[in-house]
Amino acid sequence: MANANPNGAQITDEIAVQINGMHKWYGEFHVLKDINLTVNRGERIVICGPSGSGKSTMIRCINRLEEHQQGQIIVNGTELTSDLKQIDAVRREVGMCFQHFNLFPHLTIMENCTLAPIWVRKVPKKEAEETAMKYLERVKIPEQAHKYPGQLSGGQQQRVAIARSLCMNPEIMLFDEPTSALDPEMISEVLDVMIDLAQEGMTMLCVTHEMGFARKVANRVIFMDGGQIIEQNEPEEFFNNPQSERTQLFLSQIL
Ligand code: ADP
Ligand code: MG
Repeated sequence: MANANPNGAQITDEIAVQINGMHKWYGEFHVLKDINLTVNRGERIVICGPSGSGKSTMIRCINRLEEHQQGQIIVNGTELTSDLKQIDAVRREVGMCFQHFNLFPHLTIMENCTLAPIWVRKVPKKEAEETAMKYLERVKIPEQAHKYPGQLSGGQQQRVAIARSLCMNPEIMLFDEPTSALDPEMISEVLDVMIDLAQEGMTMLCVTHEMGFARKVANRVIFMDGGQIIEQNEPEEFFNNPQSERTQLFLSQIL
């Protein structure tokens, strides 16, 4: 089903995120340059690239933790503007997990998972707790519900952060290097949860350098450098036959 949006861009229900000619500056610094990206519903996209290339900034623009200055970002058919109500709506549809889990240390795991559903979504407490338990079971730590974040390992805390996002029932999940702060033995327990999510059909954009994960679940890998999307391709082609020299150099350094 297609409908026209006022700016002339074509929107269909199949498209989760559409970015057209988007630019962003931090003061004088031109951090994102002419980003064009269409994310179809159910796609699993891995974003990689050197440190400082603008990966975090780009995905943070998608749930408006950062503001772009030029071009369009359309999430679930709504163009992001500075309208605060609309920002709330977008945040409800777009979940995000960060490198540093950002759990509230003074709240239990259960309270971390039910805070936003109860206060933002006005879900009754009992129902919010049932939902939280369902997702804590899915990330395999229901027994930790009454502990505090500081009592859990990094891998467990990141799984709580994922469960907490899922409690808001998002349509799209953004991940920003969710395993890069973890000890090596904890990486796979978080990736396994992300693989499950991908297999259930969640639309996902993941900034990660876990190339095994990219090969396994991504349908597209995007390489960024210097604030631009340099190259994108399906994983096999991306890894075996990178086109640009910058991609080749990057891959030679991380693989
Ligand atoms: P990546 O996630 O690829 O490492 P970032 O999106 O974090 O890259 O950063 C891209 C560039 O923007 C870097 O040069 C970084 O120093 C700069 N930058 C990031 N956040 C800010 C900010 N809040 N203010 C100014 N510059 C920033
Ligand atoms: Mg980053």
